[in-house]
Amino acid sequence: MSVYEHPDFDSHENVLFATDEASGLKAILAVHSTARGPAVGGCRMWTYASSTDALTDVLRLSQGMSFKNVMADLPIGGGKSVIMKPDGEFDRKALFEAFGRALNALNGEYMSAEDVGTSPADIQHAHRITQHVVGLPGGTGDPSPVTAKGVYLGIEASVERALGKSSLAGVKIAVQGATGHVGEYLVRRLAKAGAELFLADIREPELKALAGDVGAVIVEDPDAIYDVEADVFTPCALGAIINPSTIDRLKVKVVAGAANNQLQTREMGAELQKRGILYAPDYVINAGGIINVMGDIDPKFDSVWVEGKLVTLKATLGEIFDLADKEGRPANIVADEIARRRLQRAADAKGHDEAA
Ligand code: NAD
Repeated sequence: MSVYEHPDFDSHENVLFATDEASGLKAILAVHSTARGPAVGGCRMWTYASSTDALTDVLRLSQGMSFKNVMADLPIGGGKSVIMKPDGEFDRKALFEAFGRALNALNGEYMSAEDVGTSPADIQHAHRITQHVVGLPGGTGDPSPVTAKGVYLGIEASVERALGKSSLAGVKIAVQGATGHVGEYLVRRLAKAGAELFLADIREPELKALAGDVGAVIVEDPDAIYDVEADVFTPCALGAIINPSTIDRLKVKVVAGAANNQLQTREMGAELQKRGILYAPDYVINAGGIINVMGDIDPKFDSVWVEGKLVTLKATLGEIFDLADKEGRPANIVADEIARRRLQRAADAKGHDEAA
């Protein structure tokens, strides 16, 4: 397994491989950038086929957090961690305490929150050992409703741009992962706005209940969500779902959703553009959760501040679309470049301060 040569290494500042034989912990903690402050990002626990897969995931996610945090103009850097889920039964408390020790080894360079496969209770176990966590029970709470609100605003902006509609009433939206934490809040908002919804999830009973509640169409085979004739495809489940085997199935004008790393490769952005599909860069529109978590870092980041940031998120998306339009380039590439420029400016300023 190569690290420095890894295609996603992208000059990470620090990558820590942590193991603890007693608890079975195998974790990778990746700090992409601390140019704007301590890196913040969730800890994902997943059954990875290999440590190479875990490394690829954490590097991509960690860079994504840097881009997300800088595009939302937050005073934090970007990082992420992954735990390779132990086989069979394991002691969660011991595992996350060991994870807490790994966090301490980074001396506050990185602060972890929950993510896919982990919960605030897990983070609380880590908190017995370390201060370097956010998103504890009793703190700002579940970030999903705020993420959903940001995604909702992003869908509005994208629909206005691609379809010239200032309202979502009657707009056909296909949601993947409809009953998830973000998915359900989002679906309820979209339904309230009068959108015509097509919902897919692998959790059938929850899907049936939600669709019944909001009067949506159920997409029986979750994989058929890519074929739905709609205006918008809203991925809220998995990463890498825009790839060579799905892209030609899409019959939409917009891809805008909560999932991280929706494009399997950056080139997929150009492929969407070629097909006349507007892509709302994931890390721009799904920043609501991290914006909300800022309240755990400093109480001055209160709910009024959060609301303001969500409005800014929509404006930032508009600026990306403007530039992409003007230059005839894919929105994801334009967003990446803005994020990189901002990170470089912050790194230069930090270097300057440290040298002074
Ligand atoms: P979640 O696990 O609660 O929801 C995911 C949903 O997707 C589940 O209902 C699951 O059953 C469904 N699903 C899984 N495989 C599927 C498939 N093949 N087809 C259809 N549905 C499938 O996760 P979440 O917290 O709602 O997050 C969803 C996505 O948004 C993730 O990619 C996450 O990284 C991203 N995200 C979440 C937040 C947040 O605040 N929770 C913030 C930013 C980004």
